[in-house]
Parts: sequence; C-alpha cells; structure tokens
Amino acid sequence: MASGDELGWLTWTLNGSQFYTYSICNVEEREQDNWLRTTFIQRHPLASRVFVELKFIVRDCNSFDGASLICKETFNLYTSESDADVGTTFRKSQFKKVATIAPDEITGKNEMHINTETRVVDGLSRKGFYLAFQDIGACIALLSVRVFYKTCPGTVQNLATFPETVAGGENQPLTKVSGVCVDNAASEESPRIYCTEEGKWAVQVGQCQCKPGYEEVKDACQECRPGSFKAEASSDACEPCPANTDTLQHGAVLCPCKDGFFRAPTDPSTGPCSGETRPPSAPRDLSAVRQPSVGRLILSWTPPEDTGGRNDITYSVECQRCDGVVCQPCGERVRYEPGSTKLTEARVSVSELEAHLNYTFIVQAHSGVSQWASGAQRPASRSNVTIFLHYTGEHPPQITSMRLVGQTSTSLALSWDVSPRPRAQLHIRYKLTYHKKVSIFSYRQPLSKGHFFLNGCSSVGILLKALEQKKNCYKGFHVLLMLKEENNKEIKKRNSHTRQGPEDTYFSTPEQLKPLKTYVDPHTYEDPNVAVLKFATEIHPSHITKQKVIGAGEFGEVYRGILKAPGRKEVAVAIKTLKPGYTEKQRQDFLSEASIMGQFSHQNIIRLEGVVTKFKHAMIVTEYMENGALDRYLRDHDGEISSFQLVGMLRGIAAGMKYLSDMSYVHRDLAARNILVNNNMECKVSDFGLSRVLEDDPEGTYTTSGGKIPIRWTAPEAIAYRKFTSASDVWSFGIVMWEVMAFGERPYWDMSNHEVMKAINEAFRLPAPMDCPSAVYQLMLQCWLQDRAKRPRFGDIVSLLDKLLRSPESLKTIADFDPRVSIRLPSTSGSDGSPFRSVSEWLESIKMSQYSENFTCAGIVAMEQVLQMKTEDIKNIGVRLPGHLKRIAYSILGLKDQTSTLSVFAV
Ligand code: AMP
Repeated sequence: MASGDELGWLTWTLNGSQFYTYSICNVEEREQDNWLRTTFIQRHPLASRVFVELKFIVRDCNSFDGASLICKETFNLYTSESDADVGTTFRKSQFKKVATIAPDEITGKNEMHINTETRVVDGLSRKGFYLAFQDIGACIALLSVRVFYKTCPGTVQNLATFPETVAGGENQPLTKVSGVCVDNAASEESPRIYCTEEGKWAVQVGQCQCKPGYEEVKDACQECRPGSFKAEASSDACEPCPANTDTLQHGAVLCPCKDGFFRAPTDPSTGPCSGETRPPSAPRDLSAVRQPSVGRLILSWTPPEDTGGRNDITYSVECQRCDGVVCQPCGERVRYEPGSTKLTEARVSVSELEAHLNYTFIVQAHSGVSQWASGAQRPASRSNVTIFLHYTGEHPPQITSMRLVGQTSTSLALSWDVSPRPRAQLHIRYKLTYHKKVSIFSYRQPLSKGHFFLNGCSSVGILLKALEQKKNCYKGFHVLLMLKEENNKEIKKRNSHTRQGPEDTYFSTPEQLKPLKTYVDPHTYEDPNVAVLKFATEIHPSHITKQKVIGAGEFGEVYRGILKAPGRKEVAVAIKTLKPGYTEKQRQDFLSEASIMGQFSHQNIIRLEGVVTKFKHAMIVTEYMENGALDRYLRDHDGEISSFQLVGMLRGIAAGMKYLSDMSYVHRDLAARNILVNNNMECKVSDFGLSRVLEDDPEGTYTTSGGKIPIRWTAPEAIAYRKFTSASDVWSFGIVMWEVMAFGERPYWDMSNHEVMKAINEAFRLPAPMDCPSAVYQLMLQCWLQDRAKRPRFGDIVSLLDKLLRSPESLKTIADFDPRVSIRLPSTSGSDGSPFRSVSEWLESIKMSQYSENFTCAGIVAMEQVLQMKTEDIKNIGVRLPGHLKRIAYSILGLKDQTSTLSVFAV
C-alpha cells in the first residue's frame, strides 16, 4: 500500500521481456518518505527466520543533472509482525527496520543493471508478517520480492531416516532432529542429526546398523542371500556360509551344518562344521535290575560303540510312564541318583516309581556335538535305547469280589472286581489257581503268559475252557485269583470262590484267550476331536518354529522345524500342516492321523510330539527323520549300503509292524515311501491317516470295489475282497523287503497295475534283487504266499531277521537270479518283440546309450557277445554306477531268456 507520493505499477520492456515493477523517482524533492507494503504473509509455524530476496534497479544520481545532491541511491526494508491480516490499516510506527538496501550496480543513462539482494528477517514468532519498503528520495524500480525459508530436506543417512526440517534462525542453537532406523536396522542410541540455519544437515549421532541376517544395500537393509549369513547387527556385509554349512533361506542369521557335520556348543556358531566328530551312537546293553526291598531300580548300560571321536560322553535318562494306551513323561516325582542328566557313569538308580505302571527308560548318550549346534539341525545320531519295564511296587490293587457269570458243559466264565487303582489304565497280570473242592489238590495254571489289559474297567471276564484230562474228576472247584509280581513271587491272595457245580469244570490254557484289542479306532469316538485330545498332547503354536518345507502331504505342506516346549529341550520336528480352506471333515481326517499315531510308542513307529488343534492352523508335530522317506533314501544311496545294514533296516521295520499287529492295527499302506529314516539309519513306520490309502498315496488306484488301493504293495485277497489283515501287511512287508534290497527300485518296474495283478494271479513273483542274500529272498517269497494263513507273522519275521543279523555269514549266500522264475524283466527285446539287432539299439532301449562307446572300445559289437557278459565284465568296461550296472545286467539276463520271459514259478 502506498503512502506519500505516487507509487504504482509500471511496465518495462527489457531485452524483449516485459517486467512489472513498482517504481518511484522523486529525486528532485527533499524529505521523501514513500512506503510500499506487501499483503499479509502467513508464516510456516516452524519458520522463525525468513529470507527476502529483492530484485531492483536504482538510477545513478549523477545521471540526473543538478539533482545529485538530494538524490538517494538506497531504500529501506521494514517488517511488522501480526497475528491477523489488518487489511489496509497502515501504521509506520509498527514497522521495524530490517536493512538499508543498496545496489551493487547502479543504472546509468544507457545501460540497466538489475540487482539482487537477500536479507534475513529473523526472530519471527507471530502468525504472519508484512514487509514494507521505504523510499527516501531515490529513483528505483522494484522488480520482484521473493520471501522464503530454508529447510533441511528429508533424508536417509547411515540407515536412519530424518524428516524434512525447517532450518533454525541465526544465533539459535542448531535444530536437533531425531530420526528412525530404516526397516531391519537398529541402533543402540537413537539416531540424531542437526539442521543448520542454512538448511544443511550436520553431525549425526547414533549409528543404525542392519540387523542380523541383513546387509546394507543403497540406504536399505536387504536379506542375506541363500548361502550367506550375518550373525550380528553390524555394518558388515553378509558372509558366505563357512565350510560344511549351508542355508537355503533368505536372511539367515546362521548357516546350519550340512547333514553329517557338526559343531560343538563351544564352537563358534558362525564357524565351520566338522565331519570329524559326530554325536555318539546309542548306549548299549541297557538293563534294569529291580531292588524291590529298597524300592528302587538300577539302570546300567555299556558306553556307546562309537564315541564320535570325542571323549566328553555323558548320559541322560528320560522316563516315560505308559498305562496301556498312552505314554507320558514320568514327571518330577521320579528320583534319579546321582541325577538324570550329565551322568558320567553308565549307571543310575531310579526310585519313587509308582506301582503297576509300565515304565520306559530312554538313555541317551551325549557329547559336545550332541547339541543342535546350529540351532537348526538335529545331531547326526541321536542315541537312545528303550526298554520296557513292568515295575510293580509294594501296593498292588486288590480283588474285591469274584463271580461266575456263565457256564457250559466244558467251560465257565468268571468275572472279578479290583479295588480302585492309582491310574485309570494299568497293565495287571493275573494268575489263577484252582483247587479241588475237598481235597488239598492244587493245580496251578498260569492264566496268561502275557498281560491282561484292564483298560480302566473294574471287572474282567475270562472264559475258562475245560482241560480234557481233568474231565469227570471233580464236581466242584475253588478258585484263587492272585495278583502276581513280575518276578513271579505271589504277593497277594485276595479272594476265593467255592461252588458246587453240576458239571465238570475245567480251566483254559492261556493261548486260547484272545488278547484284548489295544488300538482304539478314532472313528469309535462320536466326536473325533475328543479322540485327538485323548491321544495327543496339545502344543502351543508359539513353541513351534517352522524352518523349511520338506515335503507335501495330502493336507498341506510338511515342514522341518523346532519344538521348544517349556522346560523341555529343543527337538527337531516335522510339522504337518492343514492348508487353508479345509472342511471340518478334512480337518478331522487330518487330525485322525495324530489320534492313531498318539496311541503308539515304539522305537520303529514315528513318534507323535503333539498337535495344534486349538488354533486356526491345525498342525501335527512328529519327531524329525533326517533322511526322509526310505524309497528316496535308498535310491540316493544305491549300492552304498551293505546287505547287513539293509537287513538291519528291515528288522526295524518288522519290529515296528510287529508292534502294530500286536495292537491289532492293520496299516494297509506299508511301502518304502511310508517308512522314514533318521540319521542313525533307523527306520520308522509312518503314515497313519484314516483316509491315507484312499486319498493320500499317489500309488492308490481305484479298484472295482470302489476303494483306492496301492496295487503293487497289496496282497491279492485285499485287492480282491478288501480282506486287510496283519497277514496282508506281511505281504506288503515282503514288497518293502524287495524295495529295500533293490535300493528303491519300483516293484514290477513299468508293468501296469493290471499286468501286475494278472501275473500275481498266475503265481509269478518278483525275482530276487541283485546281490540279495538267499535267506532274505526266501523270506520275501514266504510273505507272498497266496494262502495268507501260511505267511509268517511279524513276530516270526523279526526273529528270523534277528537270527540272520546275529550270524552275518548267513547273508553271504546270494539268491540266484533266475529270469525263468520271475516276472518280466525290463526291456528284454525290441519294441516289436524281435531280438535286438545291434548293441546300440539294445542300449538305447534300456536308456543306457551313454555306454555305447564303452562297449565298442571293449570290442563288444554284437549281441551274441553281450549275452556272454557277466556282471564283472560290465563293471570292467567302465559301468560303475550300481543302478546302471544293475539295469544292464538285468537286461542281459532277460535277453538270455528270450523264449519265455514270463514263466511260472510255483509258490
Ligand atoms: P506324508 O504326508 O506323511 O506322506 O509326508 C510327506 C513327506 O514329508 C514325506 O514323504 C517325507 O519326505 C516328509 N516327512 C513327513 N514326515 C516326516 C518326518 N517326520 N521327518 C522327515 N520328513 C518327513
């Protein structure tokens, strides 16, 4: 706003551009006091200091003739703060002078100079301000006024983000700005920086660093790439995994040891892993001696065969208490002397055991490398030995009454009650004796060699069948029922029953008593969720860490991971997950596997750690088996495992199957793909889902009866009329034996299911795998007997395999490979059925063309020569890979029998 004389817009044209200016030129008049004021300028709340940049022109006073004495060549800049726009009200007294503005260059008659001057208006605090220009008699034109403040721009420095900040004023302390570390970076001290009055950042304190597993890349923290790691927060880059370690994960903090390599806990976790030391093997000859008089038990064992190259072996003892169906940790009551861990002697005394429970003690050998050194890997050989100990304490349950509940001319049925027992479900063994009614004759007949499982009921009936030789001898009987201790010392006689019988009465032999079924089908529960809770421990998902996908199950991914339950050691586990979008039925089917698995407790059955059912993502957590599925494992180690070891693996599978069949559980899908192998080469039976045969197994094939059956592994009666029994499991076991001895070869090769069924019906059987001990092949053939009653039982199979393992010499006799007794061999003739015309045509047909040159170089150019070759000759011409050697050798054997590739083998 103008005050005083004329001030207004003028238009100038300079170098072709038009300028709008405010100008005044009262150079010939004294005492000029002309004002120009801006409109109200709003202030940024943080900008206490603003810059005012002026562009202007000042005429040289000398260019005005005679006026130079009173003419001025400067003007003044004023400012006035205000909290509100005061409109046109103008009071000079409210303005404060900021500066006198003088041109650097003045404009003469013929040339024009535009000056630019910047002044600072400091100490502003109100909502806004006005600027004013005072002319005191100069000839000036004001071209532009630019008002601005300075900021330090938003920035990322040393991994900290700082926001845009308005620069402080003159004489003020530098503006201190706090920043935040970028994603995945952290700092001990919160990062700070100063913004100078000039809008420049200066002096940062508090350094951010990328967190473990991340490295700095262009102002950000990026995950370490697979194969590299970073253990600590630092400004270092990720390092490649050290020797014998690797990780497939992004963002690894550590590189776990590769299989077969270990770190001791004292080794730095960032260092290499060593193959020289291993976890020790299992303690041997674990035995338990009861000392009932002092109420304790002495466990002793011999040190492991393989100390893993270390001399710091210690032992730990774990105890599980089993009540017939469910096993659980013994808890804190059980006392160990000198202790349960870090034992240096191969002996421990155990006391405070409860009466009438089945205890399992697991003794584990440890050394410096038994720990899960990398936090991710289970030690190569976790050692444990299990024994079952039936320990009966001082106070057995008592028989409170006994009744006759039924009778025929040759048998009678008894029932009795027992007093409440310490646990709901106990194994109790009874001994029954009977007496002639009047005389003192006493005949003792142990009723059972095994155990009677009472399963929580308080009365038990047993049918006693007549003993022939006693017929017509006695007219009455007197029964004594006694509880027996393990060492056969009778400790309690409780009840007797006397009866005058009209008939002869006799007692049975124990073999005729059917064992009670101990496996409980989860289907018998109305609510399958109840079954899960009964047989499986609920795990909180926060105790589970998933590490890596290791397989795909029917219901979702299978992960390797860690389970760290409170108060328990970390264990490597496999985690089966249920993929999202499942139906309630699918969830129940998924969890049924846990309900079944949870009922088993055996060295050769995959152990259930627990389940997650109470959270959205249901999971089944089992022990982790480092070497995965057996079929894969064998294929990957073709020819590397001795027959003795293979038979040892089969022995384990058979022991697991014996346990299952003893529990009246029929597996129905026994196959090498459903056996898992751990680092000790121990095999464990897995895959127990209720729907597994129907849905899960890729080998499952629909039969005419509608069910899905893995044809090649299934006994004929099970295929034909779904007669699944332990005897059909034995057939499948025979196929597993074949798979194992043939290093994972597919049973019946590429024959179709239909061809397999037809061949089996016609009495063909698989031929002996190459180098298969004769005794082992004979056992296979026994498992494949058409008449299922004639097949061996799993108990027989375990005994036989044990016998073979005890005398390894017995494995030296190799089964004849006789193509005439066997089912068709792979590629024994040209595709049109005619004999092969050339060696190369033959090699191509068995996909072994890569050896064409080996044959030519060895001078074997005609099929007649090929037919003369022995396995040794094939090796000698350079075929080394066991799988290839086998393929070629089998094919030659098949070629020799061109006339009859399918001939009968009588079984
Ligand atoms: P499944 O659904 O049981 O057939 O599991 C699918 C795959 O996951 C198997 O073939 C194994 O390779 C792997 N797997 C399952 N359970 C385990 C385990 N306990 N330890 C190691 N690998 C396992």
